[in-house]
Amino acid sequence: MDVSSFGIDHDRLLRGVYVSRLDEVGGGFVTTFDIRMKEPNRCPVIDNPAMHTLEHLIAMYYRSSPEWDSRTVYIGPMGCRTGMYFLFKGDLQPGDVLDGVRAAFAHVAAFQGEIPAAKPKMCGNYLDHNLEMARYEAREFLELLNDLKPENTEYPKTDY
Ligand SMILES: [Zn+2]
Repeated sequence: MDVSSFGIDHDRLLRGVYVSRLDEVGGGFVTTFDIRMKEPNRCPVIDNPAMHTLEHLIAMYYRSSPEWDSRTVYIGPMGCRTGMYFLFKGDLQPGDVLDGVRAAFAHVAAFQGEIPAAKPKMCGNYLDHNLEMARYEAREFLELLNDLKPENTEYPKTDY
């Protein structure tokens, strides 16, 4: 259980790219990024089909990227549906991955055609997708990624 996230003041947390945790694994490090696409408890959350499509498209983007494939550990949605977790190898800061995060969301925003791996053999709920909404969410988040302020990369902490 990631107890460190309970020290974050979700009342003041903004959209952005944050370091959620750093883990030492097998002699190296893995950094978990909090890719926060919605302000917690203040913005409507991402709907499940759009989140599912974001997961497929972004995971596929990193897996097919010569630069990112070997650095990527895991991409997945947050249960609260206000964002996603991106796990990369290394002891990293948001600035180290921003270009790659921007590129992944730009990929989704421009994506046309068949959603990768959205077939019954490859997906647990293959009909539960929404490409148009995924593209909309990606476009909206990209606007923020192109204008990130310090408060979009540093967690607000609780006082207790
Ligand atoms: Zn799936």
